[in-house]
Amino acid sequence: AARTRDHLRSPIICILGHVDTGKTKILDRIRRTNVQDAEAGGITQQIGATYFPIEAVKKEATKIEEGKKLLYNVPSLLIIDTPGHESFTNLRSRGSSLCDIAILVVDIMHGLEPQTRESIDLLKMRKTPFIVALNKIDRMYDWKAQPHNCPTRASLEKQPSHVREEFFRRVKETKLQLAEIGFNTELYWENKDVRKTVSLVPTSAITGEGMPDLLMLLMALPQRLLTERLMFTDVLEATVLEVKVIEGLGTTIDIVLTGGTIHEGDTIMVVGLDGPIVTTIRALLTPHPMKEMRVKGQYLHHKQIKAAQGIKISADGLEKAVAGTQLMVVEDANDEEEMEYVREEVMKDFQTILTSVDRSGLGVYVQASTLGSLEALLEYLRSEKIPVAGINIGPVHKRDVTKASTMLERRKEYATILAFDVPVEKEARELAESEGVQIFTADIIYHLFDQFTAYMERVKK
Ligand code: GDP
Ligand code: MG
Repeated sequence: AARTRDHLRSPIICILGHVDTGKTKILDRIRRTNVQDAEAGGITQQIGATYFPIEAVKKEATKIEEGKKLLYNVPSLLIIDTPGHESFTNLRSRGSSLCDIAILVVDIMHGLEPQTRESIDLLKMRKTPFIVALNKIDRMYDWKAQPHNCPTRASLEKQPSHVREEFFRRVKETKLQLAEIGFNTELYWENKDVRKTVSLVPTSAITGEGMPDLLMLLMALPQRLLTERLMFTDVLEATVLEVKVIEGLGTTIDIVLTGGTIHEGDTIMVVGLDGPIVTTIRALLTPHPMKEMRVKGQYLHHKQIKAAQGIKISADGLEKAVAGTQLMVVEDANDEEEMEYVREEVMKDFQTILTSVDRSGLGVYVQASTLGSLEALLEYLRSEKIPVAGINIGPVHKRDVTKASTMLERRKEYATILAFDVPVEKEARELAESEGVQIFTADIIYHLFDQFTAYMERVKK
């Protein structure tokens, strides 16, 4: 079928920002609004994502004038919400970000925080358009909360003048902070050019104020910027979100299908640490819809699923699959030419990564949870002119320490493992201590950089 403006897929949205700014709460709030509303209903929890049908979004968004002028021409909003994965921008589909748009949450009482900056860097790197939710407006002194998911401006009008003053002062401060790192921002109702200026939307996940505004913007932004990108395609596009061991199923992969249709029995290829993995889909699984949550047997089985959706795939041989990479379907596993093509395609991103590894084998060891975060780390090290001897994705094992320890004789300060968002096995930690290998761990990239930079300063002296 031809790609047309009449057939768009759901935009994929991710939420990011500093810890405790209210990311989870905002999601809960939008979810609950609609769940309470049986008519709009149909919100479904997917694997690693929440699916908000367009009718539910429309109902909220049209509470605002701007929302009445929009087209509601996508099937839903698909919000990525895999717990623990705060850096979704790192997940890619065909080289660009998996997320079509992002919500960057900032606590209006705190302004910019370290992880806000990190999130912005990731968004910049992937060129992902985003809006900023200035959350927790209800925490301003004397705020008079307005009920029923009140749109922000209507609520502001009801506030006493000293509250409005505080509000505009805080908005101004945040705008200044964002300007300092190169972003022009405006309260969305004053934003004349969404291509050049980032919209700010004041919200409260507790009172629900600003939720209609947020949903309206999530509809408006893709319409202005992304229609081309959202045209439905028959070409299968899927990204591996997570690799997980599930009792009774073995190692499974959670994916987001962003294009095409996937079937049970399809032969798929995914990036593996030791090379491409070819396997056959044993089961295509999704959670039960809300009301069937209590049903035993955890997952619903499907014969086929169309984009965009979050799906769990059960198949053999997925143990070494790499999160944050693309999944491809092989039409004919006996066609060696096709196999070779798919193999190259699927491993492309990984190959690029491998080229940052120093040929002479001199350098530090880098380990991360996803390909995207690994890439961000490598970029940083490149800018600091620190060579990389080896990379890995997943937990730090003893053998990683052994590899890093070979550097002890060549360049002692490089006998180092930078481990981002991955666990370090007990034996690995013990071995590192006895051998003198440094392991730096953090789940915020900047913390890792800071630790490592401080260490390099120390050893240089
Ligand atoms: P996350 O770490 O960004 O996912 O933050 P959470 O959603 O877990 O929220 C962190 C804390 O802030 C929780 O105690 C929330 O109840 C609280 N919180 C979140 N949003 C708001 C808000 O809009 N107003 C107020 N007063 N508290 C909020
Ligand atoms: Mg959270």
